[in-house]
Parts: sequence; C-alpha cells; structure tokens
Amino acid sequence: MNTPPLPPAPSTPPASRLGEADAAAQLAYLRAILGSLPDPIMVIGRDGRYLDVLGGADRGNYDAAAPLVGLHMQDVLPEEKWRFFLDVVHRALDKGCLQTVEYRLSADEVEPTDNDGPSGAQWFQGRVYPIAGRDAVVWLVVNISAQKALEERLKRLSEVDDLTGALNRRCFLERLEALFGAHYRRSRSLAVIVFDVDHFKSINDIHGHAQGDRVLKRLGEVVAAGLRADDVFGRTGGEEFAIGCPATDAQEAEILAERLRAAVENLVFQTPSGELHVTVSLGATQLGPDDKDVDGPLHRADQALYLAKRRGRNQTCVWAGDEEPDIDLVVD
Ligand code: GH3
Ligand code: MG
Ligand code: MG
Repeated sequence: MNTPPLPPAPSTPPASRLGEADAAAQLAYLRAILGSLPDPIMVIGRDGRYLDVLGGADRGNYDAAAPLVGLHMQDVLPEEKWRFFLDVVHRALDKGCLQTVEYRLSADEVEPTDNDGPSGAQWFQGRVYPIAGRDAVVWLVVNISAQKALEERLKRLSEVDDLTGALNRRCFLERLEALFGAHYRRSRSLAVIVFDVDHFKSINDIHGHAQGDRVLKRLGEVVAAGLRADDVFGRTGGEEFAIGCPATDAQEAEILAERLRAAVENLVFQTPSGELHVTVSLGATQLGPDDKDVDGPLHRADQALYLAKRRGRNQTCVWAGDEEPDIDLVVD
C-alpha cells in the first residue's frame, strides 16, 4: 500500500490556514505518530464511551484496543472494573487534574478482544487527564507488570527469611502487632508460640553447618504446612521461631504446638555422617486481659520455652496467663 509521505510538521502552518488536503495530511501525520506509540492512548467520554484509541502497537504488552471504539466500558468490562474506571474518568473531569491509577486486567475480562496481546492478567498504570474544552479524558495506558513483579520480589525479600521461608524478625513482629491491634485486643483470643531447636549447636558440630541449614529449611516448611492461613510465622533468631495464632486460646495453642513438635520429631535427615533427627522445645501462651502490647505474651512464651528446655527439651510448656509457671525452674 502507498502511504503519502509525512509533511514536515514544524514548518506547516496552523490547521486553520491549511487547505482541506493539507489539513487531512496533517491529521494523517499526527495519527501516524500517535499510532506508532507502543502504549495505547484512549479517549473516553464522561459516559464511559471509548471515543478513540490511538497507539498501543506493542502486542507484547497490549491487546489491540481499537475494537472498543464506539462502545461503552459498561458493555465491555465486568461491573466492578467499569465502575472503578468510570469513577476515575469522573474524578479527572470534575477535578480537572491528572489521576493516576494502577489496576489488574486480563484480556478475558474485556469484550470484544482478539486476545492478541500478552496472556494472563497484567498490571497497568492509567494516567488519566481531562481534554481541554471537551467532556472527555485521555487515558494513557502503560503495562507495569514487570515493575510490579520486581516490587513483589523486593517486598518478599524484605519480609521473608531466605533460608526457612518464614517471616524475618522485623516483619513477624509487625504482623503480630497488627494482629494484636486490629482485632484481638478486646474480644478475640490470640496465642503466641515460640520454639527453639534442641542442641542445634551439636547438630552443626557433628553434621556440619550446611546440614544444619538443611534442617532449618525443612523445619520452616514443615511448620508452615501445619499452620492456618491467618497465622503468622517468623524466624526470630538463628534457630528460634515464633508463631502468632489469631482466635486461639492457650489450650488450642498447646494442641497445635504438640502437633508441630511431633511433626519435627518424626523427620529423618539422611546425611553423609549418618541419620539425623531433630527435636524442638516450645513455649505457648495466650493474650491476657492486662496485655497492652505483644511484649507480654512474647515474654511469657519465652519463659514457657525456657521451662520446656529445663524440663528436658522436646516438649511444650504453656503459660496460660492466669497462673504463673514454676518460677523456680524458669529463673536460674
Ligand atoms: P538448646 O537446646 O539449649 O537450644 O541448645 P542449642 O545448641 O540449640 O543452643 P544455642 O542457642 O546455644 O545454639 C544455637 C546454634 O544455632 C548456634 C549457632 O551456631 C546456630 N545457628 C544459628 N543460626 C544458624 C544458621 O542459620 N544455620 C546454622 N547451620 N546454624 C545456625
Ligand atoms: Mg537451640
Ligand atoms: Mg537458641
């Protein structure tokens, strides 16, 4: 197909002084430029109608949006999405300023589409700006999925202990405080369990540090598999871990702790220096009426763990909060 050469834009006179043919060439020139942009630009009216779609040539990042022109977003998107998008359009028009939004969308959610772009849900940033003198906005779309994935990865790295998959100490304490503050201070119960690997120093000494690491990694997996989705599990020190269990009292925490203890006791590790078994000691407690923050429960769980160690390890001790444990045994 023969396409007319593009006119040299800077030297062309304003459209008002152009002849019809020149104006058409100028328009074609501008559309050619906008059409070659990799990211789509949509023109959307106040009523949610797609008035125009320009650009978006990058099929690696976008499905073709041209079939949307003339349709209303209410007809092509699920209700939750079009309500959100229409609200953004109205905000941009009513406030007269840029609205920036991030959203997840997959081609399956949009009718009609040839689904000729990326597969699966993508993250997009929309930069939405009112068009001067018109009751419509330009909606510039940028696919930010790669950036989102990187953000997720960095967030995970900053929250999760690499070796065991448990939350790191800082993140664990933050989540535990959030559990405490959000729901559980007054009405609901919250249990804290802490545990520590027994004689871990000798495991390192006998089997080597790498085998010790392997044990910690497996422990992390086994314990995580035994918890509920809203429990928080963290590595609070070298071979010390803690769990926060919402809606759980001391008695239920003891049952859980014993289940975890037995699961660890049943693990068998094959190592070059022979079979390796590990045990853990656990301390558990529940939130008491006088607890103003998580320090009290963490301290009581620690004391109960210490008692479990003193009583011979590979066991659970509970400090329910209303009765003191055997302090003579706890304090050296
Ligand atoms: P106890 O039964 O009283 O808990 O005895 P223990 O030997 O486990 O106690 P201790 O706390 O003195 O020893 C913990 C050991 O854990 C010491 C340290 O070298 C080891 N350790 C801490 N972090 C890691 C780690 O990431 N990997 C490995 N392999 N060892 C670690
Ligand atoms: Mg230990
Ligand atoms: Mg220790």
